[in-house]
Amino acid sequence: MTKEEVGDGRDDMDVDRDEIEVRQGIVELGFDTNYLKLYYGKLFPHAEMFKWMSYGNDGKHPACDQSYIGRREFSFTLENDIYVRFQSFNSAVELENSIKEKCPFKIDIGPVYNVDPAKRHAYAQAGDNVFTPVERELIFDIDITDYDDVRYCCSGADVCLECWPLMTIAIKVIDTSLRDDFGFNHILWVYSGRRGVHCWVCDGRARRLTNEQRAAITDYFCVYKGNDNSHKKVSLTATALHPFLERSSKVLTPFFEEKLLHSQNLFASEERFEKVLELIPDESVAAQLRGEWQVKPRSSTSGEDLNVVRWKRLKTKMKAPGLRRCCEEIVFSYAYPRLDLEVTKHMNHLLKAPFCVHPKTGRVCVPIDPDRCEEFDPTTVPTLSTLLEELNREGLRDDTENEWDRTSLGKSISFFTSSFLQPLLKSCKEEMESSYNAKVQQSKNSLSW
Ligand SMILES: [Zn+2]
Repeated sequence: MTKEEVGDGRDDMDVDRDEIEVRQGIVELGFDTNYLKLYYGKLFPHAEMFKWMSYGNDGKHPACDQSYIGRREFSFTLENDIYVRFQSFNSAVELENSIKEKCPFKIDIGPVYNVDPAKRHAYAQAGDNVFTPVERELIFDIDITDYDDVRYCCSGADVCLECWPLMTIAIKVIDTSLRDDFGFNHILWVYSGRRGVHCWVCDGRARRLTNEQRAAITDYFCVYKGNDNSHKKVSLTATALHPFLERSSKVLTPFFEEKLLHSQNLFASEERFEKVLELIPDESVAAQLRGEWQVKPRSSTSGEDLNVVRWKRLKTKMKAPGLRRCCEEIVFSYAYPRLDLEVTKHMNHLLKAPFCVHPKTGRVCVPIDPDRCEEFDPTTVPTLSTLLEELNREGLRDDTENEWDRTSLGKSISFFTSSFLQPLLKSCKEEMESSYNAKVQQSKNSLSW
C-alpha cells in the first residue's frame, strides 16, 4: 500500500495482512496517521455524530433552529499537539470532509455558543456581543488515576481487570441517580480509550442547565467533605442517610465486600490496613485492631481470605455508639465514584468525542451500555489496527452497507444508534412539536382575543 493510495481513500482496501503486520511492528500499539485516515474514511460514524449534535434541528420542522449546529464548538488536536479550537460545521458533509482532511488525533466537543464560534471575533467587532456558551450536555469525567490511593494492582494510566470494576461501579451509581433522582433519560456512557469513562447527559433539560445548576448537581454527588490534609475522605454524619447515599451504599457495600476487598487486598499488609484504620475516629478501637493485626496473621481455620476476616473483625468493633456510620464511610472512601468536578461544573469544558481513537492505546472510545456495564472489558475494546485488519480480512464488497458492520466496531455503532441516538432524536422531535404547537396556540389565542 502506498501513501498515495491511502490519500485518495479509494484504493485503500488492498491493505494486505503482511503489510499490516509489518506496520504493527512499526507503530507498536497500532496508532499511525495512515491508519487513522482509513479509520475516518471507512469507519468513523460522521453522519450519526452530526445527527446527535443537531438534536433534531435538521431543517425539516418549522420549529427547527437552523443556526443550532453551526454554533457548536468542535476542537481538533492535530499531530504534534496542535490544537485547532472553535471550529463549527453547518452540514454533515462539512464535518466529514474536515475530519478526513485534517485527520485529527483527537476530536473534542465543546458547548453551543450564542454565535458561531468560528466567527466570534467578527461578532465581537460588530458590537457589544459577548461570546458565551448557551447550551451544553451535562458531562461527567471519571478517571481511574484518581483512585491511585485505593488501588494496588496498577497506578497512573495503567488499568487492569482488577481495578476496572471501580469504573463499572461508578457508572452504576451515577447512572441510577441521573435517571431516578434527576429524571434524565438520554445518557451516553463512553470509554475514554485508556483509563476512564465519560458521561453525556443529553436531555434538553440537562443541556440548558446554567453553570450554577451544574454546580448544584456536582454538590449532590460530592460526598468528599474533607481536605487534602485529612485522612477522612468521606463524612456521613447525618443520623439518617440521604436516600441517594442509602441506595448507593446498597450497591457499594456488596461490591466492596465481595470484590474490592480481595481484588485489591485491602488488608494484606500493615501499610494497607493502616489506611483503613486512619478512617476510624475512635483511636482506642483502631489501636486494638492494629495490635491484633500486627501479630503475624494466623492461618484462618475457615480458610477465609485474610482481607475478609479482618473486615469482619472491624465490623464487629463498629457496633459501638458513634461508630455506626464508620463502615459505610470506609466503603465510600474506597469505592464511591470520584468525579472530576470541574468538568461537570462549567459549560465550556471540552470533552473528547465518542468514537475517537486514543493515540496512546489505539483503542476506540466506544459507548458502554450502563445496563450491562459489568460485561465491559477495556482490554478487548477494538483497536485501530485490529479494525483495519478485520476490514481487510473481509475483503471488498459491492453493496452499500456500512463498512463498520464488517468489523467489531459495528455493534458499538449500532448500540449508539439504536439505544441512544434514535430515542434521543424522537424526544427532540416531540419537544419541538409541542413547543411549536404551544406557540401556534398562543398566537391563535391572541388573535381571537
Ligand atoms: Zn489494575
